[in-house]
Amino acid sequence: MRVTVLGSSGAYPAAGGAASGYLLEHDGFQVALDFGTGALANLQRYVATSALDAIVLSHEHMDHCLDLYPMFIARYFVAEPLPPLPLWAPPGAFDRVAVLEDDEGREQMRGVYDLHEVEAGSEFEVGPFRFSTRLLPHWVPNSGMRISADGAVMTYTGDTGPSEEIETIARDADLLIVEASWQDSDLASGKQPFHLTARQSAEHAKRAGARRTLLSHFWPGSDRNLSREQAAEAYDGELLLAQEGMAVEVRG
Ligand SMILES: [Zn+2]
Ligand SMILES: [Zn+2]
Repeated sequence: MRVTVLGSSGAYPAAGGAASGYLLEHDGFQVALDFGTGALANLQRYVATSALDAIVLSHEHMDHCLDLYPMFIARYFVAEPLPPLPLWAPPGAFDRVAVLEDDEGREQMRGVYDLHEVEAGSEFEVGPFRFSTRLLPHWVPNSGMRISADGAVMTYTGDTGPSEEIETIARDADLLIVEASWQDSDLASGKQPFHLTARQSAEHAKRAGARRTLLSHFWPGSDRNLSREQAAEAYDGELLLAQEGMAVEVRG
């Protein structure tokens, strides 16, 4: 499978960038994994809005799902009606975005998506991909995902604090995409435990035995090279820094 970074910022898009989003491709099937602020703009570099096969969301925070709204606009105002776009999301996430519309608009938006609400901990299949999820600690329910296709395994944390469950879903993964919102100095300042520092991300990757690790979900404006340095002290596998447009082939 192949994964392309659509957005590597946490919270809000850094200058010229986008919040969380990844395009996952295998056997001609294209899935957007998270769909945060700005992800739709970058998605269209690779796939037309009418051609995307599915969207899967980790949690309801807007930096992971806000672009469901412009995607609704893009797929609603077309000459020929499109089939509803399969959307796999935690319960309530779709409604958090749909409230942007009035009653009539919400009804139209529901018609644009084929919504499957899935609790963290469930397993499901989307095209050629098998998703196995776990609840990871965040302010709201967040599904960490182990995604497999044809023997290749990719793990995506969404947003999370430290948790042994990360190691469960990332065990021996060919690629781990892990959030690295913070740096050592943020931890020292006593922030709440619902994100990871780059070093904590790397420590989890090491314990899981992940072969390659892609750090992402950086706080806008933060020094990503410092994140890399702090992570590298705790992990000796191949360490990658997410940036918009970067593509990684994931092989088993
Ligand atoms: Zn986030
Ligand atoms: Zn979040």
